[in-house]
Amino acid sequence: MDNDNLTYALMNASSDLAVIIDLNGTLLEVNDAALRRYGLERDKIINHSLYRLLPSDYINFRKVYIDIVLQSHEPHRFEDEFNGFSYHACIYPLINNKTNNIDKLAIFATDKTIFKKNEDLYIKHSKILSTVQSPMAFINTDLTVQIVNDVYCKYFEKNEKEIHGESIEKLYGAKTYKTILKKQIDNCLKGNTSSSQDWFTFPDGIKRYMLMNFYPFFKNSNTVSGIVINSTDITKMKQMEDELKKLSITDQLTGIYNRVKFAEALTDEINRLKRYNSGLSIIMFDIDHFKKVNDIFGHDVGDEVLKKLSNLVHEYIRDTDIFSRWGGEEFMILLPHTKITDASNLANRIREKIENKYFKGPNTVTCSFGVTEYTMDDSEESYTKRVDEALYKSKHSGRNMVTVL
Ligand code: GH3
Ligand code: MG
Ligand code: MG
Repeated sequence: MDNDNLTYALMNASSDLAVIIDLNGTLLEVNDAALRRYGLERDKIINHSLYRLLPSDYINFRKVYIDIVLQSHEPHRFEDEFNGFSYHACIYPLINNKTNNIDKLAIFATDKTIFKKNEDLYIKHSKILSTVQSPMAFINTDLTVQIVNDVYCKYFEKNEKEIHGESIEKLYGAKTYKTILKKQIDNCLKGNTSSSQDWFTFPDGIKRYMLMNFYPFFKNSNTVSGIVINSTDITKMKQMEDELKKLSITDQLTGIYNRVKFAEALTDEINRLKRYNSGLSIIMFDIDHFKKVNDIFGHDVGDEVLKKLSNLVHEYIRDTDIFSRWGGEEFMILLPHTKITDASNLANRIREKIENKYFKGPNTVTCSFGVTEYTMDDSEESYTKRVDEALYKSKHSGRNMVTVL
């Protein structure tokens, strides 16, 4: 097979569009793919001028490429568009064996229309994504990142290229992936929208509270082909919420818990007790003759006594105990995992500490105490009522004492 035949065979086997022209632009060969693409008949165009078949404004410009090939003797590649199709094209010089000169040119064009359309679509989507002010990512079902917006890149301090193809597990860290993301992603892969709220530490070292929404992306009606992750930084909202929550359970004067927190904790601890049965006791106490302190030294001194006394009691209880202001000068301490004897001992210790403490104004202050332990027949009401009765007994038996009921 001589060179020409080989070239013709190859070009006809190719699914790319291919033509061979001589140096005047006369069409010597056209392959089937090109004929099919433009609905042409071979006999009607062979030996005709390619330049005349194509619009002159199109061909004038491409002649520059032909000149480059003729001068350099090297193939020249370029991107081209014609009749709504996009091509990667190449002009090859065909050298005459005898003269060693170029006497023909082969032009190949690979159809990139779909690729180009996708590329355009990708650019369009990227542009839309870049207008979104929260980090967004599209991940494949193999959990690698495919598309991200600018904000997402900023959060991870990486550029798009570095993030592309990265696994979600690596990007967020194995621990975060396992404890927070995996559950949501698994749920999403089943076709469900899911969301989570949690603290994340980003590469800049800043902890942010992120609301993350996971949307399944469907290839057809029932196959998930990816996940869109849309996150929102809700740190400020979370901090405000936490602050409000703290305020709602804190007594403003003493800084200890208020009655709201006590009620919450009581319900929780009773539920826990039903599982572990390790004892749950309450100490209730009330300042003796506190009205007199206000009457003699003034309300401000009374306030200081309340604050100092709260601080003092705080020193003698555990972090897990719930110390709260029940009313004016009445306090409750809820003691999880505590049986009655230990609760009673603690009450007595606190009673003594208060009795021996110096308080500006009245010098000394005493309190009366009630102590009781939760029994399985109790309701919250019967339980707190009993400790109130115990305190009442202390008041009526001389004050500055502990009564256990
Ligand atoms: P008892 O030994 O029987 O408990 O006598 P008491 O005087 O302590 O009891 P009483 O209930 O008669 O008076 C409680 C007083 O506590 C009345 C009220 O003015 C005072 N009080 C309640 N809340 C506050 C507060 O926030 N600040 C101040 N300074 N006083 C308060
Ligand atoms: Mg009192
Ligand atoms: Mg009282």
